[in-house]
Amino acid sequence: MTISHLFSLEGRVALVTGASRGIGKGIAVGLASAGANLALVARSESTLIEAQREIQAIGVQAEIFPCDLNETENIPDLVAAVDASYGQIDILVNNAGTTHRDDAVDFPEDRWDDVVRVNLKSVWLLSQQVGRAMVERGSGKIVNIASLLSFSGGIRASAYAASKGGVAQLTKALANEWASKGVNVNAIAPGYIKTDMASALLNDPVRVAELMNRIPVGQFGTPDDIAGAAVFLASEAASYVHGHILTVDGGWMAR
Ligand code: NAP
Repeated sequence: MTISHLFSLEGRVALVTGASRGIGKGIAVGLASAGANLALVARSESTLIEAQREIQAIGVQAEIFPCDLNETENIPDLVAAVDASYGQIDILVNNAGTTHRDDAVDFPEDRWDDVVRVNLKSVWLLSQQVGRAMVERGSGKIVNIASLLSFSGGIRASAYAASKGGVAQLTKALANEWASKGVNVNAIAPGYIKTDMASALLNDPVRVAELMNRIPVGQFGTPDDIAGAAVFLASEAASYVHGHILTVDGGWMAR
């Protein structure tokens, strides 16, 4: 097998959540460039349509599946709709995420529930429902999007840190059960990436100066910086990689 064949996703079907913008769109474009057909999930239909046009222009199929993952009862219908369109799901990228910042003493319970439901519970439910068919077939790739706050606690982001710590542990737990069944479960922990989610932080000159001091490469990342790692973990090149949390962070964790 040639090296380019190892990294090829020709004809595979990839479901990417949060694919309308930011890191998810970068990953979807990367998977499409490697040959995958895409099922694009997010809440906003209009933003999904823009992403769909961009991905179809690469020359692969792209279908949109508007869905609010905060309403986890939507997940069985979502998986059934993607299966009905494409027949099966070969690659699942659990990328959709949200955050809320508040002091721990004031953190509202409803915001805690929203963050943990979107960032962790939906990841578990999607992995379970898509993973069940992968285990039956004996093949599949699941890539979860973790965070630097999978490793450290952060400040004023207790629900986010708890959810992303959970994503890292869930990744390892599923890998332990499914590695022997031909299903790879891994995660990417991005560093500071220029997206809507990070904009409040990246528009604060004091925080920007603090962060720059700590990032060896001396710049923030872009969604394109995450695409290559996602293609790798979704491909046969990663067939012996299980339960790994791959940091793509400009060297942050090396400091
Ligand atoms: P973003 O630019 O805010 O994009 C978030 C994506 O998720 C959008 O497509 C959004 O679309 C979708 N989404 C949000 N809530 C949803 C819901 N309830 N149901 C369905 N889709 C939903 O964020 P990002 O920075 O690209 O973040 C993507 C992932 O990377 C997240 O898991 C985040 O925690 C993680 N991450 C980001 C950074 C960073 O520095 N940016 C660092 C580490 C990890 P709609 O709004 O239309 O639903």
